[in-house]
Amino acid sequence: MDGEQLTKDKYEKIMDITKRRGFIWPSFELYGGAAGFYDFGPLGAPMKKKIIQKWRQHYVVEEGLLELESPTITPEPVLKASGHVDHFTDVMTECKKCSASFEVTELVKEETGDDIEGLSKNEMENYLKEKKITCPECDGKLGEVYEFNTMFRTAIGPKEDRKACLRPETAQTIFIDFNRLQRIARRKLPFGVTQIGRGYRNEISPRRGVIRLREFTMAEAEIFFDPDDPSHPKFSQVSDEKLRFWPSENQEEKSRELTEKTAREALDEGIVCNELMAYHLAYAKKFLISLGLPEDSIRFREQLPGERAHYSQETWDMEVKSEKFGWVEVAGFAYRTDYDLSQHSKSSGTDLTVFTQNGDDGKKVLCHVVEPSYGIDRPLYCILEHAYTEDDGRNYLKLKKDLAPIEAQVFPLVAEEELEKIGKSILKKINSTGIFAEYDDSGSIGRRYARADEVGVPFCITVDHRTPDDSTVTIRERDTTDQIRVKIEDLPKTLCKLLNSEIEFEQAGEKV
Ligand SMILES: [Zn+2]
Repeated sequence: MDGEQLTKDKYEKIMDITKRRGFIWPSFELYGGAAGFYDFGPLGAPMKKKIIQKWRQHYVVEEGLLELESPTITPEPVLKASGHVDHFTDVMTECKKCSASFEVTELVKEETGDDIEGLSKNEMENYLKEKKITCPECDGKLGEVYEFNTMFRTAIGPKEDRKACLRPETAQTIFIDFNRLQRIARRKLPFGVTQIGRGYRNEISPRRGVIRLREFTMAEAEIFFDPDDPSHPKFSQVSDEKLRFWPSENQEEKSRELTEKTAREALDEGIVCNELMAYHLAYAKKFLISLGLPEDSIRFREQLPGERAHYSQETWDMEVKSEKFGWVEVAGFAYRTDYDLSQHSKSSGTDLTVFTQNGDDGKKVLCHVVEPSYGIDRPLYCILEHAYTEDDGRNYLKLKKDLAPIEAQVFPLVAEEELEKIGKSILKKINSTGIFAEYDDSGSIGRRYARADEVGVPFCITVDHRTPDDSTVTIRERDTTDQIRVKIEDLPKTLCKLLNSEIEFEQAGEKV
């Protein structure tokens, strides 16, 4: 079997598990489906919530950023001011024969492997002609190349006279609410505001499964700072963190070489624009590691000038290596300057500066912004792919214990009334402490372990023939399949500690 075949098989195995066991599947299947929309099933939905919970812990609780939740439907003037009405576009072309639509840069990447993002429309059209690229569906001729605005349109009210769009990013209401938020932050710079919620992009022809969605969950943070002082008070805590960069110069020279630098070196050598950016890249890497993604699967790619969003002066994509999809962007870090605040200030006629006091000196500051912006759906796929493990004829999801959707499973060793009764009372006790556990009594114990492994259940609790005598049960650990015996009364506390990695498995009970 060659490498490519192996990868393909692995992807198919993962997708089989995600659909069959209920992580993710394509939406609207009964009605023929709709590309770019996915459902998160009974295991995917709780796992996604856990990723969001970790993100909140990282950014809201520990980093101290404020949190905002706004509508996803946005009146058009807001997005006119923000530049999205004019610039939130993809370049597309249509087949003249079968009229299939294609996003040009994606089509070219698939057909030739070249990255032509950043070229002008004319250059793209010439490129397609030069390389004699035709419709991948029917080999027909491709038409002219034009820009397509990828915002979903809607209207507000019964007469539908107020134009609106589904938001393409969560950021805009943070800028609009700036005056309220800066007062809540007591006008101290830097301060940041996060928003977690749905974003929308009417992709021209999404064909990369859960990687290219038309409706997705975002988690964004806007960090407001005085452009004269882009320092971060906690930079020293991350300054030694090693990061792997793929700067734009290397990409332009067609060099695949990554430059490894600490956050401090990246700042001092001018690889990144300022201390806040350096801090947030390092902080973000720590977040991905906390999700269980391996260090060597993470890199930072600088966007080329032609590919950056209209509001950004410097953008880094945090990418995770996927066997199926190559390097996948899971977050973007844009230096948005004062672009948004100044646009909304002009457009609404409202002063959006902060008055800061430093001793006797006070000054008005139009804040600049560094923005960490995550998609939550893509990391979920990457985590599943990296967690999928085959060894010794066993396959299991090696998920971080605190990300596993089912946290424990309770089994009676055999179908006997007494064991079943104890098993069910244990389940009730564990569930009441907030642990998401399930009961499984169908099939052999081996099959039940295999089913639990397949979806990454970290701990399986078995009620056996010793249990009625001494009130103990076994706990089996997913990754090692080692077992310990613990007292039923200690079970909820012990499981909690194990799930939070507060104790080692071997220390949690008597080895079996
Ligand atoms: Zn065609």
